[in-house]
Amino acid sequence: MARREDADILDSIERWVEREVRPIARHHDHADEYPHELVGQMQALGLFGATIGEEYGGLGLSASTYAQIVTTIAAAWMAPVGIFNSHLIMAACVERHGTAAQKAHWLPRFASGELRGGIGLTEPDAGTDLQAIRTVARRDGETYVIDGTKTWITNGIHGECFAVLVKTDPAAVPRHAGMSLFLCEKGPGFTVGRKLKKLGYKAIDSAELVFDGHRVPADRLIGGVEGQGFVQAAQGLALGRINVAARGAGIAQGALREALRYAQQRKTFGKPIAQHQAIQLKLADMATRVEAARLLIRQAAAKYDSGERCDLEAGMAKLFASEAGVENSLEAMRIFGGYSYSTEFDIERFYRDAPLMCIGEGTNEMQRIIIARQLLERNPV
Ligand SMILES: Cc1cc2nc3c(=O)[nH]c(=O)nc-3n(C[C@H](O)[C@H](O)[C@H](O)COP(=O)(O)OP(=O)(O)OC[C@H]3O[C@@H](n4cnc5c(N)ncnc54)[C@H](O)[C@@H]3O)c2cc1C
Repeated sequence: MARREDADILDSIERWVEREVRPIARHHDHADEYPHELVGQMQALGLFGATIGEEYGGLGLSASTYAQIVTTIAAAWMAPVGIFNSHLIMAACVERHGTAAQKAHWLPRFASGELRGGIGLTEPDAGTDLQAIRTVARRDGETYVIDGTKTWITNGIHGECFAVLVKTDPAAVPRHAGMSLFLCEKGPGFTVGRKLKKLGYKAIDSAELVFDGHRVPADRLIGGVEGQGFVQAAQGLALGRINVAARGAGIAQGALREALRYAQQRKTFGKPIAQHQAIQLKLADMATRVEAARLLIRQAAAKYDSGERCDLEAGMAKLFASEAGVENSLEAMRIFGGYSYSTEFDIERFYRDAPLMCIGEGTNEMQRIIIARQLLERNPV
């Protein structure tokens, strides 16, 4: 059951989206221009601390409420969610796995948005197979020296601090036993390689990060013990998957909203196209996908909040809701006809943004594999 404050927060978010986010989306998307003006507003709304505990200055929201916030924003414009989401995954790694000193030092700064960032896992030669990463951290007295390259890192340009997955023992068997997560702040030896150009998810920075002899104090190792990084990152991905599912549901909902309006305004053969059965079938399927996605997300988030293992539920939610985003945006294109191709409408943006949800936080191929493995584990013969 959502707390009264949660309902108030959701209400504020809805009003903020209509007042500040929806009106600027098209311009920022087409200009591929970072929405600096939203950052201070997100700070004021507490979004940089949305899922961080109240004792550290965060809002302490459940995954269920957080997912609703994400869907609400993404239904207008998905991209700005990226500004606080991967930041919160970084924070979750510290809150769940960090030492007491790390939590006390980092979480209040993350929660206020004073220090913002994201998560650096992917490399040019390793995405799905994260255990194949090559970035290394070599111990040198009371410091570690990090060398390697990360790519596709959200907030890579405008963020300052990242949870970075490295190998502390490249020869370890199994490979994940030699992996660790470090908190790295930009500075000597840690720079931005380049900004990446994209099909969609515009205005939000995706960048290559370069580590060249970057020296960090040993107390930046999350949890203080080497070899835990892969498990820490993987656990962060459960929340990440619920979030991507919520973004997919938002895109699906946004496309439905536009299609419902347009279908009642556009006339052919003397009546609104919404009166043609072929269009009604599309609207019905679109609305059903939105509801089904919401229910799967609600189930996964409730399980996450209860502290139970939820990779099956989060995987199903992520798979279904992201595909719903793709299908609904394409169906909205068909309903809009020629105008769907116009950059004066928002449908083309939904259509460009949606496929990313099938890739991020574990591709949908991998979600199916995770779901199948869990099914077999839970149903042995
Ligand atoms: C806009 C954007 C933002 C991103 N933000 C971040 C970020 O902030 N931080 C971060 O660390 N990463 C980020 N990523 C990276 C993203 O997480 C990876 O792209 C994703 O995990 C897939 O990895 P890959 O691109 O290397 O694909 P690959 O791993 O090369 O996969 C290629 C294809 O092979 C399939 N495949 C791979 N292995 C298997 C298998 N065992 N069985 C079946 N199929 C398989 C995949 O499903 C996919 O279809 C971002 C990516 C994009 C595009």
